[in-house]
Amino acid sequence: MEKEFTTTSPDETIARGKEFVASLEAGEVVCLQGDLGAGKTHFVKGMAEGLGIESDDVSSPTFTLINEYDGDKLLYHFDCYRMESPREALEIGAEEYFYGDGVTVIEWPERIEPLIPPEAIWISIEAPDKNTRKFVIRKREP
Ligand code: ADP
Ligand code: MG
Repeated sequence: MEKEFTTTSPDETIARGKEFVASLEAGEVVCLQGDLGAGKTHFVKGMAEGLGIESDDVSSPTFTLINEYDGDKLLYHFDCYRMESPREALEIGAEEYFYGDGVTVIEWPERIEPLIPPEAIWISIEAPDKNTRKFVIRKREP
């Protein structure tokens, strides 16, 4: 499965995140790939809104490594930017989150790639110009 779309404002990215989360089941893992400022956290804000979580509460857990939000489903938000190795993620119990019942979303998943469940959904975000963001969503076929 592969799906592509483009957004032209932060609000549109939030709206897409909200729409996207409605398609997820409990326990899914979503990887968000893109440079700093690509819009990963805005997309997570939308996912949070879709689960009934106040999106103002959502920011990159760059220092805390993980934020947990309680909505219609639990939302686990990882930011692995500062992780030096997958071991650090293991130490904070990443696998319990990834294989738990909540929805997990991960910024900078490439830092901990060996730990990512094979059935995860990968979303890459590119920024061709200041306000445009191109999203490609891939889910490996079972
Ligand atoms: P990341 O988490 O990938 O570092 P953020 O979501 O924190 O990115 O920030 C994205 C930045 O890009 C914000 O400053 C936002 O205002 C800006 N931006 C401009 N256009 C868009 C868009 N179409 N979608 C998302 N963010 C956008
Ligand atoms: Mg971010």
